Amino acid sequence: MLVVGAGFAGSVVAQQFASAGRDVLVIDKREHIAGNAYDEQDAYGVLIHRYGPHLFHTNAKTVFDYLSRFTEWRQYEHRVRTWVEGQWLPMPINQDTINRLYNLNLDEAGVAEYLERVREERSPILTSEDVVLNSVGRDLCDKFFRNYTRKQWGLDLSELSAGVAARIPVRTNRDDRYFSDTYQAMPLAGYTAMFRNILDHPRIRVELGTDYVELRKRVQPKLTVYTGQIDEYFDFRFGRLPYRSLRFEHEHIPNVERLQPVCTLNYPNDHDYTRITEFKHCTGQQHTGTSVVREYPTNEGDPYYPVPRAENQALYKQYEAAATEERDTIFVGRLAQYRYYNMDQAVAAALKVAQERLENAAV
Ligand code: FAD
Ligand code: UDP
Repeated sequence: MLVVGAGFAGSVVAQQFASAGRDVLVIDKREHIAGNAYDEQDAYGVLIHRYGPHLFHTNAKTVFDYLSRFTEWRQYEHRVRTWVEGQWLPMPINQDTINRLYNLNLDEAGVAEYLERVREERSPILTSEDVVLNSVGRDLCDKFFRNYTRKQWGLDLSELSAGVAARIPVRTNRDDRYFSDTYQAMPLAGYTAMFRNILDHPRIRVELGTDYVELRKRVQPKLTVYTGQIDEYFDFRFGRLPYRSLRFEHEHIPNVERLQPVCTLNYPNDHDYTRITEFKHCTGQQHTGTSVVREYPTNEGDPYYPVPRAENQALYKQYEAAATEERDTIFVGRLAQYRYYNMDQAVAAALKVAQERLENAAV
């Protein structure tokens, strides 16, 4: 069988099929495994994430246990500050964010009352604007979400599905962690090392620098697991699905051990980039210098994000219907399912399709 893409979705399916005795060829058009989670040492020896910061978090014990077979972990809880009106404030919005922004001294109940007073009740909640106005009201929406979102997506909050802004919690306590999940950790030796272990199986062969668009003219596998863009698979027959891209600007700063107070600083209202991430916070690496990445959103370049909005979902549905006709191809992953998956969700989706297909094959 052929697996297209050596990211989370492809590598996990390959591992599952190989363990069940199938011979698997994994290809990726890039020159490396690990998909967008790829990490590497930069020219200065600092471990960086080439495609932007990847912080692992999940509530799914099955996913955490599964990945724990291939890596040890470093406990790490991600923290973010955001630059609003001349201050670095905790993001997600919490008790301290509100007290410091408005010069208040509210306790947890006071913050809850405050939000109750300023929130704009929206019903039904369809867009990301509805989500944010409904929870924190207009002023906080405009200061923390409106401009960041416009920069990140090139769209207004009102043009994006609710799920985008709903990724970010709102808290009345002082918890300043970016994620609330049960399991929050980084692979101890990095993501690429973890992928090497996932793919290290006598029945798995990996060929890098190989594009399916070319390969499919020559081979006819019994089964294909496809994790690339679904619209590309079908030669864009219903039109192009929009994907948002990023330009990553990496920088090494010598002789500075720590540049930022936390791993990621967000810039909702300033600069063309959305955020700066300093990797040593999450990797725990010791080094005399430090390396950071700035993310500049753009429409040109690799497809990093599906764009969640109703009209795009409708177009995706056409491709999904075509996909169900392809009996010998499984479509899974962020690009093939056109879903804003986190890493753990890509793993869960891959485990599920592999299990389903292996069970059916056994009958
Ligand atoms: P991918 O990792 O995109 O893998 C697909 C692979 O298929 C790619 O390697 C690609 O080269 C290959 N491919 C595509 N087309 C072809 C073709 N025609 N022929 C051959 N190969 C092909 N998730 C988190 O949980 N936490 C985070 O903090 C986080 N941060 C992120 C930050 C950024 C900037 C981005 C872009 C994503 C982030 N994610 C994060 C999401 C995470 O990257 C994805 O959930 C995960 O990588 C999805 O895995 P995948 O296998 O579906 O896709
Ligand atoms: N968001 C925002 N302001 C922020 C952080 C996030 O408006 O300071 C919105 C924005 O629309 C963003 C979405 O919430 O795209 C999800 O944020 P997340 O950090 O999860 O995005 P990712 O890490 O996937 O790029």
